[in-house]
Amino acid sequence: MSSENIKETQWAKRPVIIEGNKIRSIFDPWHSWQWYSPFDVYGRDREENLYMRFAALESDEEIKDFISNYGFLGLQESSLREVMIDDDIVIEETIDEIRFQISRMRIILNLQQAITEKKPLHSRDALNNLRELYKGKKTIIISKAIDQNNLETTDLERKWDVIKLDSHRTIVQEINLELQGVHQLLIYDVSAERYLQRWSIPTLLAAMYTMFSLDLQGGKILRKCANPTCPKYFEVYANDTRKIYHDPSCAALQAQRNFRRKKEQQKKEQTKG
Ligand SMILES: [Zn+2]
Repeated sequence: MSSENIKETQWAKRPVIIEGNKIRSIFDPWHSWQWYSPFDVYGRDREENLYMRFAALESDEEIKDFISNYGFLGLQESSLREVMIDDDIVIEETIDEIRFQISRMRIILNLQQAITEKKPLHSRDALNNLRELYKGKKTIIISKAIDQNNLETTDLERKWDVIKLDSHRTIVQEINLELQGVHQLLIYDVSAERYLQRWSIPTLLAAMYTMFSLDLQGGKILRKCANPTCPKYFEVYANDTRKIYHDPSCAALQAQRNFRRKKEQQKKEQTKG
């Protein structure tokens, strides 16, 4: 997939509100639908990509802000962009549906990290989490060899090849599901008198998965912040491969916690002795 011209992809956004269990666009003549490209900051150095930002959303308020800033995911209509030409149209998406997509994105990110870091237990957990998320909707197939609860870590390590294969297959399937509507178009530019290639990306969700797909093809290393209370993801650069926290404040916080834990441990040992 070549990313030429991808920054010309357009999506519409407008301020939204939370209404019950839904996120809903506000009709406001001063803030009509505004077009932008979800790929504007894509690939920019030291900038979190949109799908990583999406995966880190936690509260309803954060979800609302994300939708206000980047538009609806496009879950209802694949042709949302056409509907948006009508400025009066009200769009809504349920918070449950959005949360489902956040969880799915997170699990796929965690799965790719577990595979990159060769952690069989984490990979198997991520596969199980995806299965749990899809319960009643779709079956996630996990090879019999690793689909048992009583497996020890050493068993799992021995079955690394099976886990790896299952994980890669799952990542590819999940991402391809969202790339189905993404395609290239041929355009004839009359003023330039030449043929050009354009991208057709039907939804914001598809745009985010396109970025994810391009990043995986580019061999990017993506990690979740090692501070367990921080939901952020970041890209690891070649000159900084040991980085495990998304920023220095998370590193400091975790160092403090570890220090306190160590001290408590020492105290316990002292009272024991
Ligand atoms: Zn962090």
